[in-house]
Amino acid sequence: MSHNKPPKHLGSDVQRLKQKAGWDPAKHVRADAHEQLRGLDQEIKNQKVYAQADSCPACLLAQQESNDPSALCDTHLQQALGF
Ligand SMILES: [Zn+2]
Repeated sequence: MSHNKPPKHLGSDVQRLKQKAGWDPAKHVRADAHEQLRGLDQEIKNQKVYAQADSCPACLLAQQESNDPSALCDTHLQQALGF
């Protein structure tokens, strides 16, 4: 087994970053579609989170305290954010 040389590893990382940052229409479209899919996925997740929040005492308390009907407790807030 040979040692992993840091410069080589860093180099491939930089190349990957450059590819991400580079303007490639084909890649851009694919990334966009992926983003849309992710957004849809997140929307479904949020609906589930809010459905759970309806019967979560901590969420109800957070809503009363902040006077915000969309407030969530820490647990459900993290779930809504995708953690
Ligand atoms: Zn909650």
